[in-house]
Amino acid sequence: MVILKTSSEIEAMKAAGRLSAEVLRVVGEAIRPGITTLELDQIAEKFIRSRGGIPAFKGYGGFPGSICASVNDEIVHGIPSAKVVLREGDIISIDTGAIVDGWVGDNAWTYPVGTVSEDKARLLAVGEACLYAGIAQAKSGNRLGDIGFAIQRTAEEAGMSVVREYVGHGIGHAMHEEPNVPNYGKQHRGLLLESGMVLAIEPMINAGTHKTKRGSDGWLVRTRDGKPSVHFEKTVAITEGGPVVITIEPGHPKPL
Ligand code: MG
Repeated sequence: MVILKTSSEIEAMKAAGRLSAEVLRVVGEAIRPGITTLELDQIAEKFIRSRGGIPAFKGYGGFPGSICASVNDEIVHGIPSAKVVLREGDIISIDTGAIVDGWVGDNAWTYPVGTVSEDKARLLAVGEACLYAGIAQAKSGNRLGDIGFAIQRTAEEAGMSVVREYVGHGIGHAMHEEPNVPNYGKQHRGLLLESGMVLAIEPMINAGTHKTKRGSDGWLVRTRDGKPSVHFEKTVAITEGGPVVITIEPGHPKPL
């Protein structure tokens, strides 16, 4: 069942969304060659708790971290580790969220570590474009397939591929609510979008094949061909006025 939110509930979700965006920025600013993903995780947890929030990921399904940290060919769900040291030229996806007043925020971004190759820089740009193409379709009267179609078209026209097995989701008091929000699809197909839906839209875009494989820890997901992958996510409310990004800091230059 899709749980629609009232406009006052959407307002209430903005505190969790703002803190989620802040922690993502703070972690992003700490990324540099030589830092470990465990150090990034500690920065995130400390920041979230200092603002009175609860790390949404920590303990979720047994996940040990406050962030997922996925490097290069790792797509999602990388467990923060003292053994993973970032190097110049890597890309790293950080997925994190916070719970405030019982509401959950969820967002992700992929960052370059120092200077990256032209291919990786292009993948980063395409992944970000996919996210915004999807968000632009999050309007009442559209259908779920319109979001996935826009993302898939943006990725494939650029020669990239869309991960199929992992998708976006509804979000509210729980991190994962209905519906699933695939990053691929057909125009005008699927669930009718309505005001009051709050969705985590989160394209995972691969440079090579869309196929994935699981890591040995039961969490980590990698590309099957070892080529890099990016992940961009925002929590978005569908309102009468159009899509509203919830995971955003006030004054952000790109409101959508
Ligand atoms: Mg998510």
